[in-house]
Amino acid sequence: MVPRKLSLLLSVSLLAVPVFAQQQNPSKPKPRVIVLGVNGMELDIIRPLLLKGQMPNLSRVIENGAYGKLRTVSAPNCPRVYSTLFTSTNPEEHGVTGFLVGGITANTNMLKEEPVWSMLSKSGITVGMANVPATFPVMPVNGYMISGMLTRGKNCEDGVLCAPKLSEVMGGDAVYPKSLQPELLKNGGDFYIDCERMPAAGDLKGHETELINTWLDKVQVIRDQQTKLFDYLLTTHPTEFTFLAQSCEDRTGHWLYPITPFNVGYNPSINNVRQDAFPNQYVAFDKVLGSILKHVDENTYLIIFSDHGIKPLREFEEKDPHAHMDHEKTTPVIAKHDFADGDDVPGSFFAMGPGIKHDLRLMGLGVSVYDVAPTVLHIYGIEQPKQMRGRVLTEIFEKTDNKVVAKQ
Ligand SMILES: [Zn+2]
Repeated sequence: MVPRKLSLLLSVSLLAVPVFAQQQNPSKPKPRVIVLGVNGMELDIIRPLLLKGQMPNLSRVIENGAYGKLRTVSAPNCPRVYSTLFTSTNPEEHGVTGFLVGGITANTNMLKEEPVWSMLSKSGITVGMANVPATFPVMPVNGYMISGMLTRGKNCEDGVLCAPKLSEVMGGDAVYPKSLQPELLKNGGDFYIDCERMPAAGDLKGHETELINTWLDKVQVIRDQQTKLFDYLLTTHPTEFTFLAQSCEDRTGHWLYPITPFNVGYNPSINNVRQDAFPNQYVAFDKVLGSILKHVDENTYLIIFSDHGIKPLREFEEKDPHAHMDHEKTTPVIAKHDFADGDDVPGSFFAMGPGIKHDLRLMGLGVSVYDVAPTVLHIYGIEQPKQMRGRVLTEIFEKTDNKVVAKQ
C-alpha cells in the first residue's frame, strides 16, 4: 500500500500529464462552481442587516438558494476548519490541527489527506483558487492557486495573522504557476495576501480612536485589492471550479464586536469608538459579493460559507479576557469562536445554482463543514472517496440523482 502522503504527491505530480482533458467529453460543458469563504461570518450580525436591506446581494443568494448554519469542528480556527473542509476528514487525520502544528506554522506540506482541489484537478476540472487560508506554499492544480492566510513574508515571518504583500512572499511560494505572479503584479499591482494584524494593547493605549480608524482604513484597502483580484481572475482566468476567500471580517469581530457595558472585557475607550465597525464589514463584504455575482450565470453554482461564527466573551473567559490563543494574546479581544465550555460557534452556509432549491432555510445543524467537499464532487458527478467523513447535501437539490444534477 502506498502511504497517503506519497500517494498525494504522486497524484499531484500527475498534473503535469495532459491526460485529463481526454477523459472528459469535450462537447459537454462541465458545471461551474464558485466557492466563497468568509472567515468567521456571524449570522447574529448578518440577520439584522439582511432584514434592513443592507446586504442586497446576499439576500439575492438566499432567495434563490438554500441557507443555514454550518456545523464546524471543535475548537475551530481557520486552518483547522479549512483543511477539514478541503479534505472532509477530521483534523487529526489531515494533520492541520491549528495555526501551529508542533510549534511550526501550519502549511500545505503537513496535509496528509487529499484536498478537493487535487481530486477535481485529476478529473480534468479546471481549478482556480485565491486567498484561501492554509494554502501556503501553493500546490500544483489544473489551473492557478494564490495563497491566503498563513502565507509567510517580509514583516510577517511567522505567517500568523499578518499580511505580507505578494511581492514580499518568501521563495515565490504564493502563486502557482509561477508565471502568474509577474502577470498579477503588472496588471493589478501589488496586493496584501491576507488581512492586517490587529494593533497590540500597548500601542492602543491612549491612541485608541486613531489606531482603530487607521486599522479599519487598511482593512478596506485590503478588501478593495481582493475585490479587484477576484474580478481580474474571474474575468481573465475563468475556471470551472473557483475557490476564493476573505478574512478581515473575523479579525474585526475579535476586537471590535459591538458589545455593550455588561459584556465581559468591555472597555469604552475601544468599544465605544466604532460600534458600526463589525456590521460594516458585512455591508462591505456584500459589495465584494456583488462583484463576484457578475460572474455567476444561471449555470453556475455559488457556495458561500463561513468556517465558524463569532460571539462575545463569556464568564469563563473573565480571568483572562485576552486568552484567544489564535490571536496571539496581544490585542484586547472581546469576542471569539473557540470557547472553554466547548460550545463552539457554528458558521454559515449558502448555496444557489442549477437544481438547488429556492428560499430553503436549513434548520438546526444538519449541514457540516465535512459536507462541502462531497457536495462539490457530487456536482461534478465524482464519487465521494472512502476517507471523506461528510455527505452530499442531497436536501438542497430538487433532484438527488447525481447525474441529473451534473448534466444541468
Ligand atoms: Zn478568529
